[in-house]
Amino acid sequence: MHSRILNGFLFLILSGGFVAAQDKAYARKVVDTLASPVMHGRGYVFNGDKIASEYISNEFKSFGLLSFEKTGSYFQEFRFPVNTFPGRVEMTFHFGDRAAEKCMPGEKFLVRSSSPSIKGHYKVKRLDSSIASVPSKWDAFMAEDHRKVFVLVDTAGVRDKKDLAKMINFVKYPLNVKGILLPVKMNHIEGTDQCSKLTAWDFSMVQSTVPVVEIDPSLSAATEIDIRIGAKFLKEYTSRNVAGYIRGTAQPDSFIVFTAHYDHLGHMGKEVYFPGANDNASGVAMLLNLAKHYSKPENAPKYSIVFIAFSAEEVGLIGSAYFVQHPLFPLARIRFLINMDILGTGDEGITVVNATLFNKEFTLLKSLNDSSNYLPQIKPRGKAAISDHHFFTERGVPAFYIYTLGGIKAYHDTCDRRETLPLTEFDDLFRLLRDFTNVLMN
Ligand SMILES: [Zn+2]
Repeated sequence: MHSRILNGFLFLILSGGFVAAQDKAYARKVVDTLASPVMHGRGYVFNGDKIASEYISNEFKSFGLLSFEKTGSYFQEFRFPVNTFPGRVEMTFHFGDRAAEKCMPGEKFLVRSSSPSIKGHYKVKRLDSSIASVPSKWDAFMAEDHRKVFVLVDTAGVRDKKDLAKMINFVKYPLNVKGILLPVKMNHIEGTDQCSKLTAWDFSMVQSTVPVVEIDPSLSAATEIDIRIGAKFLKEYTSRNVAGYIRGTAQPDSFIVFTAHYDHLGHMGKEVYFPGANDNASGVAMLLNLAKHYSKPENAPKYSIVFIAFSAEEVGLIGSAYFVQHPLFPLARIRFLINMDILGTGDEGITVVNATLFNKEFTLLKSLNDSSNYLPQIKPRGKAAISDHHFFTERGVPAFYIYTLGGIKAYHDTCDRRETLPLTEFDDLFRLLRDFTNVLMN
């Protein structure tokens, strides 16, 4: 079986001659556009997702992609709840013995995604190892009324696992507190221009009653704070997937599908946005490059090729889940689906999720890579519910999810910027995906 695939591949190479390289300048332009401030982090504040999906649909249109009958346009709308931060988000930390520090979100503090709005000046009380390790002190602390103060939960120096669990539980289910401050180790991100971050940010589909703020440990000595969080919970936000296709010349009822989510984390306050250059402007750049390639008459595909840019992936794979429940064409006709999410590096190759489920296709991908020396490594991985291929896999659709390895470590933070995204192996990965697709259609 494998050798037959290989022969087919050799034939393709010999008869195909030089295939025009993909347009890296175009990929760069797509990343620069999607990760720019105009797109507002492609989330659910200031219409970021609408602007981004409009841009992608215009690109689809310029390539002459067809839209599906069911939607009559490239857009497929759906609704979901989400907590957002469109208002002002800022903090000033006051110390007894040194000058106050005014901070911007994303750098020295990070508002947890479920936090509600708050505005005011508050005293800070400490909950640390000296309290957690002495049962009588712990009980006394828990009995106190903290409804007018912020509790700074400092787990540094806590050795006992039970004590640590108690403190973590207190942060998770805060009782009688105005808010919580949580010192978290700052990480300098390699490959960025002096960018540091706290933990990776995410989305919440609920709004909690108590704000939780992660802070840089250098702020742990704060005795009072000024805090302002402008949150807005959206019960039924409408976002949209963007889907188009090229009709196959020989077997239009068989489909190759490329997917990449275009949404990202939006804003934390008016001024700070999450650019999401690697996650996943890079994947959309590949999606659009493939659309551009296959829409040229000389590359007209034998199968139909579908291109889907999903929204609300970061909220919990919402857009792709909706698509699988409301498919625009029969899922059973998908010969193969390739989901692309985080394609901006590649110094250490790629990982292929679902490799162990689709051994034949994985072997093909590897042999294509080996014979053309595209990527330094192709790593197999099993099933993983970590991106938009997941619900397709659950429905029995043969699919890979591909992400690049190595290079910049920015992830779900304000450091994931276009200026520092290398697109190291972008060209080679494009060629590999093109070769793979061409063999599948033969
Ligand atoms: Zn992603």
